Amino acid sequence: MKVLVSACLLGENVRWNGANKKVETLSSWALKNGVDLIPICPENDLFGTPRAPIRLVHIEGETRALMKGKNVLADLDLRCEEIYKEHPDVVGFIGISRSPSCGISVGVKNLGRTIKGSMHKTTEVPTVEYNQLRNDKGKQDFLKRVTKAHEYICSRQRSGTCS
Ligand code: SF4
Repeated sequence: MKVLVSACLLGENVRWNGANKKVETLSSWALKNGVDLIPICPENDLFGTPRAPIRLVHIEGETRALMKGKNVLADLDLRCEEIYKEHPDVVGFIGISRSPSCGISVGVKNLGRTIKGSMHKTTEVPTVEYNQLRNDKGKQDFLKRVTKAHEYICSRQRSGTCS
């Protein structure tokens, strides 16, 4: 089963400041459970690394993703849609908290509530933040969801090309 993952969680230095957020146990957990992790980073794809940080702000009735004063929300959404199209056989995504691209419930200044980051709102496959996989129940729940998605995708394919 192929699952997309925020590249910074696998140790790639793609955060805005050139750092990473590596989780040492993630790769071994995936290997043990038949999950093939595919690293992605929409912000590095669009803007390179290092880059200016992006903040979500609600202004004049709309939520914007501001990067040095420019609204890049549409660019982020589009790049994330493209990533899913480039990987049509993925059955899930593991993101990271607070990122406008990879967080599942990201704070928005002046809005008073959180919204989904672009990698979560542009797909129908199961998505989580790594924080939700820190305990056994979270891991089991996610595995059940991606297994179901995998079975559904396989059932729609005529040939045995599921991996
Ligand atoms: S866009 Fe996602 S993968 Fe890239 S650095 Fe930010 S959180 Fe990590």
